[in-house]
Amino acid sequence: MLNELYGKLEDKYEDMVQIRRYLHMNPEPSFKETKTAKYIADFYRELGVDVRTDVGGNGVVAVVKGGKPGKTVALRADFDALPIQDEKDCEYKSTVEGVMHACGHDGHTATLLTLGKTLHELQADLPGTYVLIHQHAEEYQPGGAISMIEDGCLDGVDVIFGTHLWSTKPSHHIEYRTGPIMAAADRFEINVKGRGGHGAMPHETKDAVAIGAQLVTALQQVVSRRVDPLEPAVLSIGTFKAENAFNIIADEALLHGTVRTFSEGTRVLVEQEMRRICEGMAAASSCSIDFEFVRGYPAVDNHEAETLYLKKTAEQVPGVKEVNESAPQMGGEDFAYYLHHVPGTFFFTGAMLEDESRVYPHHHPRFDFDERAMLVAAKTLGAAAVGVHGED
Ligand code: MN
Repeated sequence: MLNELYGKLEDKYEDMVQIRRYLHMNPEPSFKETKTAKYIADFYRELGVDVRTDVGGNGVVAVVKGGKPGKTVALRADFDALPIQDEKDCEYKSTVEGVMHACGHDGHTATLLTLGKTLHELQADLPGTYVLIHQHAEEYQPGGAISMIEDGCLDGVDVIFGTHLWSTKPSHHIEYRTGPIMAAADRFEINVKGRGGHGAMPHETKDAVAIGAQLVTALQQVVSRRVDPLEPAVLSIGTFKAENAFNIIADEALLHGTVRTFSEGTRVLVEQEMRRICEGMAAASSCSIDFEFVRGYPAVDNHEAETLYLKKTAEQVPGVKEVNESAPQMGGEDFAYYLHHVPGTFFFTGAMLEDESRVYPHHHPRFDFDERAMLVAAKTLGAAAVGVHGED
């Protein structure tokens, strides 16, 4: 069965590349992916595959029911693009001003569509049911996963698998990880409310810049002095705004930043410590400081049995050169939510281009990836999905 699956996927490689390039040329940003959703739904409808649209928003869910009994396996691919101007020079460059598939979600979609078509062709001989989750809005919080789950995309699902093509990991490599593989990505906003005044008479003011600067320094101690050194955590301040003229003391300072953690305990600790520092600084400088901590996606916490199964499966897939344990990534992913409901695992499919001068990280205006990695991803996801039934 698996050899037939691999062969059929290989036969469709050129089509898969065409799908990816079409999507790459026609990107749509998060929550506005209506044409892409229609493209996906039409693809399945033309094949006669059962498809449900408007799932929790622009989400699309197709179901391929095998001819034999078995588990229900979900596979997920996201399909939104980013508000980035495509600066690549190639024939499949984005045709939409200011919008670009700069994270490879076009590749994820082409991979799952091609796999879905293949599973449909093999339907009669397949055990179990395959739920193909095409998720909208991964890039922009609150993301599409929560609403799709609320709208029933995981109903009856026993296990879920998902992958992310990765432009800076070697092509044809698979990377897995038990436990947290991607970080919780939270955001904070601090508003220092001082009292402005004349630059020559600081004693009559509460200098928001001086207080803000102390805050920046104090907050750096949270990760270095409060968090267990063996627990990964990042606290970055990306914005420090306090505008005024050169001889005027600022009334207000705004500090915005992000916190990345892997465990819930560390996540809570960092938030608590930050709040304490803001409260203490407000008392010490007799001004008021507003602190808001906005939770983003939780960590992608892979289940052990499914992760080890995926690793074993990937090692048998033709075309996969290496299977390695991944280091945890500080980026966020709303695949995290699926894993709160059903067991499963999220893994990386290396997709680095051979030409080093064309290798850029995700979300870069020149981002691109090795398209051959889509075939590796399709085979690995397909083998994992079919293999859970214990045949072959
Ligand atoms: Mn992504």
